[in-house]
Amino acid sequence: MKRSLCLSMLALLALAPAVQAADLLVDNVNGYTLDSHGKLQHFQALLVDQGKVVATGSHAELANRAGDARVIDGHGRTLLPGLIDAHGHVLDLGYARNSVDLTGTQSLQEALAKVKAYAAAHPDAKWILGGGWNQEIWKLGRFPTAKELDAVVSDRPVWLSRVDGHAAWANSAAIRLAGVNAATRDPSGGRIERDASGNPAGVFVDAATDLVNDKVPAPTAQERAAALDAALAEMASVGLTGVGDAGIDLDTYRLYRAYADAHKLTARIYAMIRDTGAAFDTISRDGPLIGYGGDFLTVRTVKLFADGALGSRGAAMLKPYSDDPHNRGLLFMPPAAMTAKIDKAFARGYQVAIHAIGDSANREVLDSFASAYQTHPQAIALRNRVEHAQILSLQDIPRFVPLKLIASMQPTHATSDMNMAEDRIGHQRIAGAYAWQRFLKQGTVIAGGSDFPVESPNPFYGLYSAVTREDHDGQPPGGWYPQQDMTLVQALRAFTLDAAYAEHAEHTLGTLEPGKWADFILVDHDVVKDSPSKIWNTRVLQTWVGGKQVYAARD
Ligand SMILES: [Zn+2]
Repeated sequence: MKRSLCLSMLALLALAPAVQAADLLVDNVNGYTLDSHGKLQHFQALLVDQGKVVATGSHAELANRAGDARVIDGHGRTLLPGLIDAHGHVLDLGYARNSVDLTGTQSLQEALAKVKAYAAAHPDAKWILGGGWNQEIWKLGRFPTAKELDAVVSDRPVWLSRVDGHAAWANSAAIRLAGVNAATRDPSGGRIERDASGNPAGVFVDAATDLVNDKVPAPTAQERAAALDAALAEMASVGLTGVGDAGIDLDTYRLYRAYADAHKLTARIYAMIRDTGAAFDTISRDGPLIGYGGDFLTVRTVKLFADGALGSRGAAMLKPYSDDPHNRGLLFMPPAAMTAKIDKAFARGYQVAIHAIGDSANREVLDSFASAYQTHPQAIALRNRVEHAQILSLQDIPRFVPLKLIASMQPTHATSDMNMAEDRIGHQRIAGAYAWQRFLKQGTVIAGGSDFPVESPNPFYGLYSAVTREDHDGQPPGGWYPQQDMTLVQALRAFTLDAAYAEHAEHTLGTLEPGKWADFILVDHDVVKDSPSKIWNTRVLQTWVGGKQVYAARD
């Protein structure tokens, strides 16, 4: 008797709706999330406990269950899952904001004026550092020169990286300090731009940038922390609650751990260790770091580079550039060296993410993964990634499927590069470039990112480019090769669920489903229903991470 009573009580308990504690109700919202199958769901209220989602549903349903939870009135505004940028450069974003920022400058004159003003405002700076320039936007038809910089700053070295980070521009003082002259040979994997008499002209491409980089004083601990603070603040303001940092060193690793320990991270960081050298040896001593500090820091990935960038013709192409018939760009290393690095990472259980822009670099990466899987067959489950996967020979795209590779792509690259890309590689090769639908149709996961500070970290720029393939002026009308457009749901998925998948975090991040972290944003309009032309202008009003508010827009 006693026993059967117990059993029936247990049965009753199992039937009764679970009454779960909640400490936050975000009510009266126009809420959207994908579910774990990538289907769009709509809701009016979000119930949270201890930073995690308890439920989404109607007002009536959840207000009942909220008990004495704190209530936030969303005033009918649109709520979305926090967006994740699968590939950005966090400290570089901060350095860019705290140094000469030439991003978006429209002419050489405007850039020079900015350098001059910054130098005047920072008389104690031993070096004038910065970046973000793009001679394509300036319509210069050539690289800028050291002499042009000398005209505004000649008393101190000036060193300014190109927007893609694959070239940099020095004044004469910097070139002198680096000891570079007409007799200096181009290093392997790099190029020194030269004037008619063979003297360095001012711009250094890819590996040649190290000639000057080696002389630049390393940022102080204070400068690094200031850069991280600036980057975190900017990410929160644009609705990013997570980021894949595409290449950290040992100092940055330690800084992230310190910030995670001090609960100072306002975005979840999944950081890739740059290369398999000394920093990797140290960081990997205890194996992959997964979900550290309440899922705020994960370090389980190695980042490698197969080639440079398209703008500076550093991308490695199978055939010469259409606008430079003697140049095919540069592979950074031979295939055997690439495979050896992948093997080393796999042997310690690390996922591998490899930068590949040109079709030759992408082929090398595919070949290298294929041969590394021969030695480490279980590593195919690590969700290895090709960063950018920008230009592929059409026959290589299907190889992503058997190799189980993720395409980590940046939609804004398509709309920023479109004119330049067509000059560089011609109409025919464009068929395999920025080819999102080719990947999606074969079932390849696309992780969406921006590569900030190469592009703006604003993920709504990425969503807009993904859906329209138009620039912010609506050009070209109907989009650039619009057959590769993503649907809005595909684009949202790339910046939420699939960006989380690419960091093995789809069970904790990426959607607002029960048990996942309550990382969400409130925005100023209905991104799902309004015209796609409005997406890039979306304003983030509030950003919440783990049920805590980390950003509120000033009205
Ligand atoms: Zn990058």
